[in-house]
Amino acid sequence: MDATATPASQAYIQQEARFGARNYAPVPVVVDHAKDCLVWDVEGREYIDMMSAYSSVSHGHLHPRIVAAAQRQMEKVAVMSRAYYGTTLGPLLEKLSEVTGFERALPMNTGAEAVETAIKCARRWGHRVRGIPDGEQRILVARGNFHGRTTTIIGFSSEPEYRIGFGPFCDGFQHFDYGDMESVKAAATQHTCAVLIEPIQGEAGILVPPPGFFQQLRAWCTEHDILLIDDEVQAGLGRTGKWFAFEHEGIRPDALILGKALGGGLLPVSAFCADDRIMKVFVPNSHGSTFGGNALAAAVALEGLRVLQEEGLVEHCAEKGEYLFRRLREVQDEVRPLVRDVRGRGLWIGVDVDPSCATARELVERLAAGGVLSKETHDTVIRFAPPLTITFDLMDRAVEVFRRVALEKHRELGLGRNAV
Ligand code: PMP
Repeated sequence: MDATATPASQAYIQQEARFGARNYAPVPVVVDHAKDCLVWDVEGREYIDMMSAYSSVSHGHLHPRIVAAAQRQMEKVAVMSRAYYGTTLGPLLEKLSEVTGFERALPMNTGAEAVETAIKCARRWGHRVRGIPDGEQRILVARGNFHGRTTTIIGFSSEPEYRIGFGPFCDGFQHFDYGDMESVKAAATQHTCAVLIEPIQGEAGILVPPPGFFQQLRAWCTEHDILLIDDEVQAGLGRTGKWFAFEHEGIRPDALILGKALGGGLLPVSAFCADDRIMKVFVPNSHGSTFGGNALAAAVALEGLRVLQEEGLVEHCAEKGEYLFRRLREVQDEVRPLVRDVRGRGLWIGVDVDPSCATARELVERLAAGGVLSKETHDTVIRFAPPLTITFDLMDRAVEVFRRVALEKHRELGLGRNAV
């Protein structure tokens, strides 16, 4: 079977497998509870969380201040829908404006919904402001993109696994090669109203754009009156060592999409942020979500943003990220050619495994058996993205496990120093 699961775990694993759809292949660890950067399974084994639910748990699991804010709000009111005003949404929107620099925000729940919001906004803006005939608006997207799982969004994925059998798809998207300005220009038409892009391609394997690309893209979008929409669902709110990944590029997008960590590690909360000149295309009845911006979600998100600010998590991330990166590079040097590359920004690091040596999944399972939670993306990349609260000591422990696992594999392949 697998390295980690034991009989108590097996029962839960089998129950999910028996009654659930088969749309996930989880690492065989059955989590019972968690605190900050540590997780315990049903047998009481301890793990270091080096994945943090794809950036959703940037504050660490069950951050006491965020849990307290949730509890306080649950004593008052949780869900009323946007049919009424509340006491937590306004403060969240104002805080979002303060941290992002955008005048307005539209709250949703999941990342994909915020991306859908961006698409609707860009199209309506393209029609009403730019004068593109309705139905002719085009949005440029990068090959290798990941923006979520709705039918519209997977329709412009370049990944067959995400698409096959799910058509017919929505028209209106054109592809360019990530990081290649000539390819952007070649894909554009006079009906292009927006570029939708990740500042680092996460699911594609933590691909950092070439230096200067975003500056060129920014200038080109400005010149042609095309909206630059930055999907920071995974990259935003400190993950890369700055509040927003676009700051590394020295640019400001026209609109920003946030999710994951915006929910403070407790709830799904997302937002589409833009200035009024763009956001004004939304009027009553043009867009919404029953749960978007509910009182509980807003209270949690607001406290999450305050924690990021007041605990200096973003500034610490830069320093910790550099450390983790350096330590993983050291391991890479010991196990060449097993590890081809280590790349990323802040506490968002991909370890690229040579597929002729091992699959990323195989190493992820061995890491889990050794007490470190990570996750593969595609067949070759292991993702390390711990909570921003991770300590140097825990990073050392996690890297040591990775080193052991990598050296063991290295030896099995007959590549190690002790190989015969
Ligand atoms: N955009 C990006 C850049 C993402 O990484 C993801 C999720 N991995 C999404 C959007 C979709 O978010 P959700 O799963 O919350 O819908």
